[in-house]
Amino acid sequence: MTVELDADLCAGCGLCEENVSEIFKTGEYTAELKKTEVEEKLAQRVRETAEDCPTAAITIYEKSS
Ligand code: SF4
Repeated sequence: MTVELDADLCAGCGLCEENVSEIFKTGEYTAELKKTEVEEKLAQRVRETAEDCPTAAITIYEKSS
């Protein structure tokens, strides 16, 4: 799985870092990605975080294979 974060949409609420600090970190105004490749053990938490993001700023791409 890969993940993208749209900084134009992000409200900087900090929820994603709280949920998955391995992937997300809160910058001065918006969240940032520490990395875009999500290992399997974090995948479910990242999916849930994308759903819970209040501004739908997180997009995930499941790999087809
Ligand atoms: S949960 Fe969404 S709005 Fe909140 S900091 Fe993360 S990306 Fe931004």
